[in-house]
Amino acid sequence: MKKTERAQRPRDISLRWELFLYLALFIVFVLAVVWLFQVKLLDRFYESIKRRELIRTADTIEEHIGKSSLYTVAYQNAVDYGICVMVLRIEGINAIKLVAVDVTGDSVLSNMTDKYVTELYNKSKEQGGEYIDKRTKGELADAGLYYPRFFFHPQRDYYTDSDAKIVSTILIRLVQGTGDEEYAILLNVEMTPMGAVVSTMSMQYLWIAVALIVGSLFLALIISRTISRPIERMNSAAKRLASGNYDVNFSGEGFREIRELADTLNYAARELSKNDRLQKELIANISHDLRTPLTMITGYGELIRDIPGENTPENIQAIIDEAERLNQLVNDLLDLSRLQAGAGQLKISRFNLTDTVRDTMQRYEKLVQATGYRINFWSDREVYVEADRNMILQVLYNLINNAINYSGEEKLVRVVQSVGEKVVRISVIDTGEGIPPEHLPYIWDRYYKVDKVHRRAAVGTGIGLSIVKNVLELHRARYGVDSTPGKGSTFWFELPTVPPDEVEANTENQN
Ligand code: ADP
Repeated sequence: MKKTERAQRPRDISLRWELFLYLALFIVFVLAVVWLFQVKLLDRFYESIKRRELIRTADTIEEHIGKSSLYTVAYQNAVDYGICVMVLRIEGINAIKLVAVDVTGDSVLSNMTDKYVTELYNKSKEQGGEYIDKRTKGELADAGLYYPRFFFHPQRDYYTDSDAKIVSTILIRLVQGTGDEEYAILLNVEMTPMGAVVSTMSMQYLWIAVALIVGSLFLALIISRTISRPIERMNSAAKRLASGNYDVNFSGEGFREIRELADTLNYAARELSKNDRLQKELIANISHDLRTPLTMITGYGELIRDIPGENTPENIQAIIDEAERLNQLVNDLLDLSRLQAGAGQLKISRFNLTDTVRDTMQRYEKLVQATGYRINFWSDREVYVEADRNMILQVLYNLINNAINYSGEEKLVRVVQSVGEKVVRISVIDTGEGIPPEHLPYIWDRYYKVDKVHRRAAVGTGIGLSIVKNVLELHRARYGVDSTPGKGSTFWFELPTVPPDEVEANTENQN
């Protein structure tokens, strides 16, 4: 159910939306990460940085307590980090200001009440010598710990709203002196609330997100269009191909993958068209080849039945000959389909190839006598091979049959055995019409015939060489043809030889 729904969904839409979805998800992810750090955690980062600066400054000042450099160091740090510094020397209930640097001009430190100082002192005592107090100036003023000097508010009579929101962080550290005295280091930093900044940035992020998502939609549209356009075009070409139009051209532009797909489809279309043409030719050839002997058989049969005295051995022989032709045709077809179906099933044996060729030649003797053909075999030694003997016989028959069929006026066919190093070559040479070079690559194909005009003299189904090719390729044998139009053709194949002594011993055993 789900599958059909998916199949019905238009392809380009799905690609476009899918791309958009991925792009949008990526943008949302990036924005979320940036937003988290820039907006959500900004306050916390800012605060922790300030806190660290306070502690570092306290450390530096602590090192200089009791030294003459104290004031310079305190001043330098105050200016560098924007921190207000106050160092007190506490003796009993008296506190003496040693250093006071107010970089803001309105530091809480300069305007804190004694109550606040005492409170801070007690808290840091409780905490083991160091305490950090963080409150807004408004809170401090409300609690009576701080006298704001500037920015009086018209209604609330002591400070303005924005001033009241400033967060004041005070670090107090107690340091024991060498004698009875004690020192208190007070550091104060003021932090403007980030609220406004954060809300501005949030708003900006919202707009950035909207802009990016709209942008990604356009990008998805453009990308999907460049991808899906050629695919759509190829799809419609493939549909035309499926309906039997082999002239289609797949043009893939844009991506390498699509171009390669187009090349593959073009190749497939060419092969399909070739196959289709060959099938049609085969049907035409076979039906012609079947019809001719059948007409002859019927004709001779009727002749013998109807006309007294026509029941002659010659007429009956004619019927037998035609029936044999039919038989040959059917056998060829069967051989080829068997070869193609059961590829790889070779019955390998060792045999004398020279003998085998000689035997084959003898079978043609009758034909030679009857028709005036000359067929001779030349060999200078006995050669043994390991192969499927019946299949090699078939190859020899097909090559010699072709040579006879196409041998021309001279009616001469030569079979030559030449032996090289560990290899024997059998060549079947005729002096016939030859094969035009442009046909040479195709003659091994099924159903291929150079001469499209069907002549009874040049009988054949276009299957013989295809069988030869299949058999020799199963044997992994080299084979080929050299042909000159008007002069004749030489068809050849090569098989590896096996040492005769070993084989002779073997054949003797078999005998
Ligand atoms: P066919 O049964 O038509 O001979 P083959 O497969 O044996 O089929 O041969 C394919 C085609 O190759 C033939 O139709 C013929 O045109 C060409 N051919 C094969 N052998 C020869 C040859 N010895 N001389 C000229 N042409 C040949």
